[in-house]
Amino acid sequence: MTDTMRAVVVDGRSGIALVDKPIPEPGPEQVLIQVEATGVCGTDLHLIEGSYPHGRYPVTPGHEFSGIVVAVGSGATRAGDGDHVGVDPNVNCGACRWCREGAKNMCTALDPVGVSIDGSCAEFVVVPESVIYRLPGGIDATVGPLVEPLSCVVHAVERTPGAWEGASVAVYGAGSIGLLAVAVARLLGAGTITVVEPHEVRRQLALTIGADAASDGSGPIREVDIAVEASGHPAAIANASRDLGIHGRLVQMGVANPDVEVGLNPYAVFAKELSIIGSNSLAGAYPAAVEMMPALADRVRPIVTDIFSLEDYAQAVEAARSPHSVKVQVRPAAH
Ligand SMILES: [Zn+2]
Ligand SMILES: [Zn+2]
Repeated sequence: MTDTMRAVVVDGRSGIALVDKPIPEPGPEQVLIQVEATGVCGTDLHLIEGSYPHGRYPVTPGHEFSGIVVAVGSGATRAGDGDHVGVDPNVNCGACRWCREGAKNMCTALDPVGVSIDGSCAEFVVVPESVIYRLPGGIDATVGPLVEPLSCVVHAVERTPGAWEGASVAVYGAGSIGLLAVAVARLLGAGTITVVEPHEVRRQLALTIGADAASDGSGPIREVDIAVEASGHPAAIANASRDLGIHGRLVQMGVANPDVEVGLNPYAVFAKELSIIGSNSLAGAYPAAVEMMPALADRVRPIVTDIFSLEDYAQAVEAARSPHSVKVQVRPAAH
């Protein structure tokens, strides 16, 4: 191993640089991971522009990733050299009220990998051993980084326990989260799964992954039991609440602009006893997603539409902004 590595660094003013820097050394209870692949997500796009609240600059982005443990710090016992691992990027304090209640995603001192500490758009990354999970066979470099967004869907399922089997599910937005929600709904035995998505390519992908029907959103869908809002677009949120049937649940996973408000029909909430449920990132769902992924791997692999090398990170970001791509990955070895 040489002692320097390539890493992407962003400044929060849309500046992206590829630098050579020393390979970090794992401190006490930390591990050094050789990164195999990293997914680019909406958070990264906001981080690059400086519009993500937790960003601390300059920083190496990358929070959806998997790789191989290549060194462990003193006192680290959870993994050894050569282990294939995924990482829950939300390093939480473990001491605040929300951490004590098991709601890690609400931690008041969250220190996310790839946001406020250096992430995986590099050849190597150091993380606390408390956030690594060994990946079982059947999880390769393509689906390894999808475990993190899958955790977000698993958390949404945790927020709606027992509701999915036999349910009529509508998913608004066929980006990576929406498509993973389709795959999970199928696995959990949902009845009918309909995707609402304006882009034809994504509608086709949704059908490939397991949706029964795909709509461009021009007409309403009726009697939905679970409406998964995974787009963050105000129109989709309004439609999702309109389409719910009796005892319907709207699961808000999409990140809307904080200033946006949408109309809601209070009579429908009353008459049909509707529930509106927020689902914010992954909380403690990462290990459950690791367990679920082998059963989903073949179904969800087409979600990864583009693979770039670390050198081409700026191009990867451009692709991630395009509706023709879904999940864009960056790989140090793809050069
Ligand atoms: Zn992400
Ligand atoms: Zn906390």
